[in-house]
Amino acid sequence: MDRKAKQNLYAEGMKILSGAIVIRSGTLILLPGEDYGAKGCYILADTYAYKNGKPLNETNSILIQTDWDYPGAASNLGYDPCSDCCEPCKGETDGTVDCSTRTAGEMISEAREFLDDHLYKEFEDPGYLGGNK
Ligand SMILES: [Zn+2]
Repeated sequence: MDRKAKQNLYAEGMKILSGAIVIRSGTLILLPGEDYGAKGCYILADTYAYKNGKPLNETNSILIQTDWDYPGAASNLGYDPCSDCCEPCKGETDGTVDCSTRTAGEMISEAREFLDDHLYKEFEDPGYLGGNK
């Protein structure tokens, strides 16, 4: 590939990694794991790969498979584990540890519901796949 062609790819937001062209849209789409044989899990896939029917793999998607990953993933979609907390909580948790008014268990199941409500929604990649740098 010549220099000009490479520059064009960069200009379109694509990223060239270790010789292979990996297309990064910079946005992710939340998918139900069960559609990909991973029941009970969620998949965050690069929107470009998903919309263009590319096979999802470790370069263009992330598997969210443990309960402990739910609050973090949900937070990236706008979930706030402490939004319904009252005093004395000041939002001191990311949802994986108890805060002063609620348990991590409550927040993890709430995060799971939040993810279920946001399936197929797109959001900016906060860095799971390197973002769109
Ligand atoms: Zn709280």
